[in-house]
Amino acid sequence: MVPPAEPYKKARLSDAHDSLLAHESAGLIQRYIFPKDTVLFRKGEARQCAYLIDSGRVDIIGNDEGGEDKLLCHIGAGEIFGEMALVDDTPRTATAVTAAECEIFIIPRDALHNRLQGLDPIISLLISLLIERYRMTRIHLPESLKQDSQNERFIQKLQHHRQLPARALELHDTEAHKELALRELKLEQELRRGLEKRQFVPYLQPILDLTTRRVIGFEALIRWQHPDKGLIFPDQFIPVAEHTNVVQHLDRLMLEKACEIMPLLDQIGGTDMFISVNMSGINFSTLDIVQSISDTIRRYGVTPSRIKLEITESALIIDPAHAEEVLRGLKELGLTIALDDFGTGYSSLGYLHRFTIDSLKIDRSFVSRLHDGQKTLDIVSAIISLAQVFHLETIAEGIEREGDVSTLCDLGCRMGQGYLFSKPLPVQEAIAYAVKGVLPV
Ligand code: C2E
Ligand code: CA
Ligand code: CA
Repeated sequence: MVPPAEPYKKARLSDAHDSLLAHESAGLIQRYIFPKDTVLFRKGEARQCAYLIDSGRVDIIGNDEGGEDKLLCHIGAGEIFGEMALVDDTPRTATAVTAAECEIFIIPRDALHNRLQGLDPIISLLISLLIERYRMTRIHLPESLKQDSQNERFIQKLQHHRQLPARALELHDTEAHKELALRELKLEQELRRGLEKRQFVPYLQPILDLTTRRVIGFEALIRWQHPDKGLIFPDQFIPVAEHTNVVQHLDRLMLEKACEIMPLLDQIGGTDMFISVNMSGINFSTLDIVQSISDTIRRYGVTPSRIKLEITESALIIDPAHAEEVLRGLKELGLTIALDDFGTGYSSLGYLHRFTIDSLKIDRSFVSRLHDGQKTLDIVSAIISLAQVFHLETIAEGIEREGDVSTLCDLGCRMGQGYLFSKPLPVQEAIAYAVKGVLPV
């Protein structure tokens, strides 16, 4: 999953130069407007951030042979300066002054560090190694340069930093990155092998009509039947599968499995039962998702409205225009769409309005705290009212207490699933559960 964009702040600073230090340490990329002639940094200062010009122009001033100030260059929109501060905290070698009013993003070292951690670990490892190599190159400067006393001091300083790994190696803890990258690579290989060897199976969790307590459908939840490690739950492998594209294969497989199961539901008289399939947001970035889903459903001859795709808001926010097109395509096929984990993400009204969605799934974190107090009750009540305004159905997830069923019914939530009724079960057991009808609770 792609990490959400970091917030940035737009602020006009009267004395920008003095206020910068406070913001450099905040760990966020922020954007500021600087008036003309603001000194962004001075030669000799130690700083921890780089600058990216959004608009305006900046003069970089250094010393000439005689030690006098000299304009080294002008730089403009799209250019980065002061970037060496991201890899080491040696003094600035030049002065930067705004030559016009400028809008500038300030990139603190911490922000780079945070973003690196959010990246695919393979990329993080590569970048860490590049930074490490860069540092080594600087340490092994040619003898001719080492004779220069200023450089000598510079090198000593660098070496001194290298003896303080906690601080100096903060940005490029290559050992940790190596370990993580290797673990992910191995898991990715295993996932692919597991796919080939058909080790992934759906478990079905019954979804009930909360008023009649009859099973009306199931959510297909993936499980990995690992030959050595036993049954592995999705939280152990879906995040890596999402980094590595494997999730597309897993989700497609679950859709196929859902189609295969449908005739078994028909056999028990459940011709109007639906199966929910989870779709990672990554699928939404591929162009052929509508075609591929359409092909699968046709191939199995499944009535499209009996497949409910569960998507999360993150699938919608990465590229809303594209997501809108995909959802429209899926709707035209006749599928139904549920917004999963509702209430935990952005939960913007705009989404409900813009996207063709049929149901909201009320996240387990709310349902499990329903009995805790008025606040959660108010949130769940608000979600259900909101859904009603937009003519959407609601499905409560994670119902564990009998008392919560009547609360949900009173609030107007018609469907639900949870351990109170049943955990996710192997297919045959789930079907047997549906046949038995209402289990005593
Ligand atoms: P989810 O889609 O929110 O699924 C609901 C999770 O809550 C399931 O965990 C389910 O077993 C659990 N659950 C349901 N009722 C209760 C309850 O009463 N109490 C408790 N404690 N838990 C309950 P599970 O199966 O481990 O799945 C975790 C997550 O993995 C899912 O969350 C979903 O995001 C992801 N996932 C599962 N299968 C797939 C899949 O085929 N494709 C993709 N992309 N993601 C999947
Ligand atoms: Ca789900
Ligand atoms: Ca959920």
